[in-house]
Amino acid sequence: MKKIVAVGEIVVEIMATEPGDGFREPLSLIGPYPSGAPAIFIDQVARLGQPCGLISCVGPDDFGHLNMERLRADGADVSAVTVAPEGVTGSAFVRYRSDGERDFVFNIKHSACGRITRSTEGDRLLDSADHLHVMGSSLFSESIVALIRHAMDRVKARGGTVSFDPNVRKEMLTLSGMRAALETILGESDVFLPSGPELFLLSTATEEEDAIAEILDLGVTAVVLKRGADGASYYDGESTVHHPAFAVTEVDPTGAGDCFGATFVTAWLRGLAPARALRLAAAAGALAVTRKGPMEGTSTEHDIETFAARRHVAVT
Ligand code: ATP
Repeated sequence: MKKIVAVGEIVVEIMATEPGDGFREPLSLIGPYPSGAPAIFIDQVARLGQPCGLISCVGPDDFGHLNMERLRADGADVSAVTVAPEGVTGSAFVRYRSDGERDFVFNIKHSACGRITRSTEGDRLLDSADHLHVMGSSLFSESIVALIRHAMDRVKARGGTVSFDPNVRKEMLTLSGMRAALETILGESDVFLPSGPELFLLSTATEEEDAIAEILDLGVTAVVLKRGADGASYYDGESTVHHPAFAVTEVDPTGAGDCFGATFVTAWLRGLAPARALRLAAAAGALAVTRKGPMEGTSTEHDIETFAARRHVAVT
């Protein structure tokens, strides 16, 4: 079975229990929940029974322990997650607004995540990898951009493949060298997994089909567009597949994109047909939104298969 590796942030998420406007008053909070987009992605891959590992860094604290134990218990290789003696595990505080939008307070760049660096353990993991997954949210410093470029080169040199979820806020594009880094990563990716407007992040096109054609022209094999409660679409230049969302009650959407992406990439690497891969991914995304806590939304292969077989999709 092919091994999937990701590089990037491990954090805990702490959520406000009531919706409202930000954090400018004392609040009732719930957490810590294991989190960090690449960590959720790898946890979902592990729960599908696929070999996988994460290159990251935590502090010598309970938040780091919580994450490491979860990832390890679910079957991920955490040998390349270092514990920085002087570091503190990253955190994200989230509060939903009544319209469903989210306010975040992040401590990532200045946490132990900022110390993610090239290591012997990391290179060893990369040398056993068949696929690298890259997330835009992880590109928060020049040193991690350089590490991710190194990881891409190392995995591709062995004939491996790359998937890329831009998962990036527009303001990150103003960081020095960020646009160029994203363009290079996209140009070297096999699967691109944008969410809604992220399709246009690096494109001058205004129509979906033009942006997709532009991306496929770069040499990307497949574009998988996540559309939230409106489902998802797959494009490879020859075939187009749409899958509506499964009808569920949304409790917490954070992490749905990572569970969806992990399931799609795993299915793609297993050689499943795009329509089947998209259906399983949509099932994983739907299951994820029904549970509170970003990594709590990951599912076993059995649960995803069973859910997908029920065949009830939302009318969109
Ligand atoms: P996030 O960044 O919050 O993890 P994302 O924006 O990357 O998510 P989404 O498009 O929100 O990704 O979700 C990924 C997939 O999960 C969707 O394409 C869809 O198949 C499924 N999904 C998301 N929200 C819902 C929902 N409310 N009901 C059913 N399925 C959903």
